Amino acid sequence: LTLLGIESSCDDTAAAVVRQDGDGPAILSSVVMGQAQLHAAFGGVVPEIAARAHAERLDLCVEQALEEAGLGLRDLDAIAVTAGPGLIGGVLSGVMTAKGLAAATGLPLIGVNHLAGHALTPRLTDGLAFPYLMLLVSGGHCQFLAVRGEDRFERIGGTIDDAPGEAFDKCARLLGLPQPGGPAVEAEAAQGDPARFPLPRPLLDRPGCDMSFSGLKTALLRARDRAVAEAGGLTRQDRADLCAGFQAAVAEILAEKSRRALRAMAEEGALPPSGQAPTPPGYLEREERGAAGFAVAGGVAANGAVRAALEAVAAERGLSLVAPPLALCTDNAAMIAYAGLDRLRRGDIDGMTLAARPRWPLDAGAAPMLGAGR
Ligand code: ATP
Ligand code: FE
Repeated sequence: LTLLGIESSCDDTAAAVVRQDGDGPAILSSVVMGQAQLHAAFGGVVPEIAARAHAERLDLCVEQALEEAGLGLRDLDAIAVTAGPGLIGGVLSGVMTAKGLAAATGLPLIGVNHLAGHALTPRLTDGLAFPYLMLLVSGGHCQFLAVRGEDRFERIGGTIDDAPGEAFDKCARLLGLPQPGGPAVEAEAAQGDPARFPLPRPLLDRPGCDMSFSGLKTALLRARDRAVAEAGGLTRQDRADLCAGFQAAVAEILAEKSRRALRAMAEEGALPPSGQAPTPPGYLEREERGAAGFAVAGGVAANGAVRAALEAVAAERGLSLVAPPLALCTDNAAMIAYAGLDRLRRGDIDGMTLAARPRWPLDAGAAPMLGAGR
């Protein structure tokens, strides 16, 4: 089976071709056209500008993906497109493009949840078995998902305010470092002492898997101002130490909450998710073992300290951390094509009535089962 994937829910216009044969899935092409320069002057993604750029580039992007795969439209079996969640103008551009292609070719159309695309990527890249814990940690997202099947996701916690990538970006701004802040802060932190400016670990003393990062930025601001007041300015070493302290706090919060999320999956994993009947055969046996894997995706997963902390947590449970290559961790269309594959196999296809959804929780309808207590 060969699918074309289309993604346009944020500030990347992307198209990709993924093929599944006896040897498993293969990415034949994956084109990502970023829009960073278009939005740079505004300090954030401007939805209107993003939507227009998607509309202008989608056709070219699809053409390029097909060309790089060496295929034509008639070689495809279906078209998968991000139908949400995301900036509605962009999502609409993608859905309209996909509908146009489907109408012209008669190919089946599949509307994919963007977050499902991210959550299933470890299967595309590493063949990870269900169930596994997925930590999505980027500039805009931070959440734990228990991934139990191709369409069985459960959110078991996440940030209640900022995403860590956003916090890294703010940290960089406060210290006069360039954007994107993550890599700049990490480079400074390499020279720094994380113990010199101890920053708080918000929510770590509370049960559950929810996280908070906005307080870190305020604490960092105060530590910076104190250092400036004492010495009349920030030295290179002050800045490095502040970055190291900040990075250590983010890594520890993510690691401790990951530990709890894995424990929650292990201890309550024997229960079938609510509202799911009848229980598929083999389900209980598999889930009694707890998470079979721990995967991370998103730009912040590129951070060495964060990654090392998560690897240590995985090792405590005898797991190895699965971190797909960065190009597949950030927004791309290969993950959308891949998420459409199983839907196509199951005959779960959308028609021309497919709607773009600005909000689309992955576990809509399912009552929470994990994450409470502890
Ligand atoms: P989303 O895809 O959730 O809408 P996004 O496009 O901002 O958000 P990504 O492209 O996955 O997310 O990640 C970008 C974020 O990752 C930025 O906030 C950036 O600072 C952060 N980041 C990138 N590299 C590093 C690093 N080495 N350390 C920490 N953070 C990093
Ligand atoms: Fe994304």
